[in-house]
Amino acid sequence: MIDLDVAQRNLWQDIDPHGNLLYCFSCSTCVVGCPASNAIPPLLIRNLVRSVTLGLEDDLLDNDTPWTCVTCSRCEEMCPMGVDPFEIVLALRRWQCRNDETRIPMAAAEIYKRGYTQPVDKAQEVRASVGLTEPLPTINRLPELHQQFKDMLMQVEIIHNADYMFED
Ligand code: SF4
Ligand code: SF4
Repeated sequence: MIDLDVAQRNLWQDIDPHGNLLYCFSCSTCVVGCPASNAIPPLLIRNLVRSVTLGLEDDLLDNDTPWTCVTCSRCEEMCPMGVDPFEIVLALRRWQCRNDETRIPMAAAEIYKRGYTQPVDKAQEVRASVGLTEPLPTINRLPELHQQFKDMLMQVEIIHNADYMFED
């Protein structure tokens, strides 16, 4: 049961200052077209938008489903009310990270340390088998650029506040 006594009624202003989500009329079109609506747990954007509107802060902090979005933007194209559901999903991820640093994806630390989220340097044999003999030009082959990138990333408030996660 939803307990509105603990609701943060202004929560939507933190997540969607433009207030687009206030136009949502719960038609579920975004859910029907969303490939992540079959994920485990399913991403049900309509429910997320409603939780934001109602100010259900604790439920949203515990909700893993924004992270199953594959960023295809289909919901954005389908929403008849211009809610921009995809932007709401991204805003929810940022909001979760601001309020709970354990939400900061490890991929961000990998990008910071290595310039990539995947160990692409180890794929030379596969690349050679399809005729790609040159090493992949990852940013960590360019130390100066990599350092600039690190400095830039560390200026992001969420990253800076959790800088222990980014130590080499
Ligand atoms: S952008 Fe994300 S939420 Fe929207 S349809 Fe694609 S997977 Fe679903
Ligand atoms: S498609 Fe738009 S209006 Fe319909 S439920 Fe999704 S966000 Fe709300």
